[in-house]
Amino acid sequence: MALKILDSCVNCWACQPVCPSEAIAAAPRHFVINDRKCTECEGSYAEPQCASICPIEGAIVNAAGEAMNPPGSLTGIPPELMQAAQAEIRAR
Ligand code: SF4
Ligand code: SF4
Repeated sequence: MALKILDSCVNCWACQPVCPSEAIAAAPRHFVINDRKCTECEGSYAEPQCASICPIEGAIVNAAGEAMNPPGSLTGIPPELMQAAQAEIRAR
């Protein structure tokens, strides 16, 4: 089991130093998790440290592809409200 970082990663470096398994590294397009090293923090922390510190909703997913920080979980903005605001901005 391992987590995965998606393209929406903004390369902020926050997750890299907090990983207890040294599983996270910078890569050409965005940070990546080495799935052979990631333990999902089991045995070290109650919560995956990378997902706990990542500021981008949806950037880190579990093995099932589910966002660790789903839309709205960090900003508190309901996803439907965010989508409506983004649609309004695009229409300007
Ligand atoms: S879940 Fe834990 S072990 Fe896996 S990459 Fe994130 S911080 Fe490292
Ligand atoms: S904390 Fe999130 S946005 Fe920052 S480098 Fe890690 S995955 Fe990318």
